[in-house]
Amino acid sequence: MSKRDYYEVLGVAKNASADDLKKAYRKLAMQFHPDRNPGDKDAEVRFREVNEAYEVLKDDQKRAAYDRFGHAAFEQGGGAGARGFGDFGGGFADIFDEMFGEFMGGARRGGGTGAQRGADVRYNMDITLEEAFAGKKTTIRVPGSVTCSTCKGSGARGGAAPETCPTCKGHGRVRAQQGFFTIERACPTCHGQGKVIRDPCPDCGGSGRQRKEKTLEVSIPAGVEEGTRIRLAGEGEAGMRGAPPGDLYIFLTIAPHRLFQRDGANVHCKVPITMTTAALGGSIEVPTIDGGRASVSIPKGTQSGDQFRLRGKGMTLLRSASRGDMFIHATVETPVNLTRRQEELLREFEEAGDRDSSPESSSFFKKVKEFWEDLTD
Ligand SMILES: [Zn+2]
Ligand SMILES: [Zn+2]
Repeated sequence: MSKRDYYEVLGVAKNASADDLKKAYRKLAMQFHPDRNPGDKDAEVRFREVNEAYEVLKDDQKRAAYDRFGHAAFEQGGGAGARGFGDFGGGFADIFDEMFGEFMGGARRGGGTGAQRGADVRYNMDITLEEAFAGKKTTIRVPGSVTCSTCKGSGARGGAAPETCPTCKGHGRVRAQQGFFTIERACPTCHGQGKVIRDPCPDCGGSGRQRKEKTLEVSIPAGVEEGTRIRLAGEGEAGMRGAPPGDLYIFLTIAPHRLFQRDGANVHCKVPITMTTAALGGSIEVPTIDGGRASVSIPKGTQSGDQFRLRGKGMTLLRSASRGDMFIHATVETPVNLTRRQEELLREFEEAGDRDSSPESSSFFKKVKEFWEDLTD
C-alpha cells in the first residue's frame, strides 16, 4: 500500500510554516474526528492519516528527515523518531492535548533542532464580576526569559552564529547500519540540536536566553467569561538561539460576587422583600452590575420565588454593544423581632379579614383534609 504524502494529507505546501501546519491539522482533525463521524470508516482512516502526518511535520527534526527520505525515514522501526505512531484515534484528548497541552508543561514536546521556539506560558488572573462586566486595563509581572542581549540570542560568544554540526550535518540525528537494520538516533556530538557552539556566550551559557521578569500591559475586554483565555502573542518564553518566542496565555477566573450570580449574559439577584411591600405592593431599589441602581415595582401579592426581569441590565456581551438581562428573585421575608404593638396589629389583621387572603394555604389545607378523609374511608 502506498502511503500518501504527508503534506498532501494536510493540504499544505512543502514550505508551510508551523502555524499553517497547525491550522490545517486542527481543521482536519476536527472534521474527521471519530466523535463527529461515528461508524464512518473513511473518516477514521483520514483522522489517523492526519494525526500521523502532523506528528511528523510539527517536529522540525522529523520533518527534515521526512523531507529528505520520505516515508522511508520512519520505516523499519524508525528508532525514537517514530515513537507513538498508531496510537491515535482515541478520545478527544488527543486534539485537546495538541492544542492546549503545550503551555502546561513548559518546553514543547518533540523539538530538538537548534532553533526551538520558546515555550508558551500560562498566567492565572482573578478578576471580579464588575471587572468582567466593564473590562479592565492592568499590568502584570511575569517571570520569564528574554533573548540574551549579549549574544543577541545566538548562544555563541560575540553573537557568532552557531556552526552546523559536522557529525550530522545539521540533521540532529545520525543513521547507522546494524545488520539488516538502519538505526537512527540522536547525534552524539550536538545531542540532536543540529548545531554546535564552540565558544558559548558567557552571559547565557549558550542558551541564548536570560531570565528576566517582564511587566506587561493587559487589556481585559468587557464581557469575558470564566475560563476565557487571552493570548499575548510573542510574550512567552524567548526562543532558543534566536528562534521565535512562545505566547503568553492569561487564564481568567471570575470571583463569586456577594450580590449577583452570573449566568452567561444574564445576572441574577436574590432580593428580600418585606412582608408589607409584598402584600401591599410598592417600589424597591436594586443595585445593578454597572454600579448603578434600578427601581423595580413590586405588584400587590408578590410571592417568594417571583421573578422580575430588567431588560438590558445584565452583563456586557463580548465585542457587542448589547447587554443581557437582570433577574430579580423575590424572597418575602417573614418579620421577626416584633414589638408588642406589631404583634397586636398582626393578630388584629388576622381577625379582621372577611375573605380568603391566603388562598394557597386554604387550598393546601383543603387537600390535606381530603387526604385524611380518604384514608379513613
Ligand atoms: Zn548570550
Ligand atoms: Zn550533530
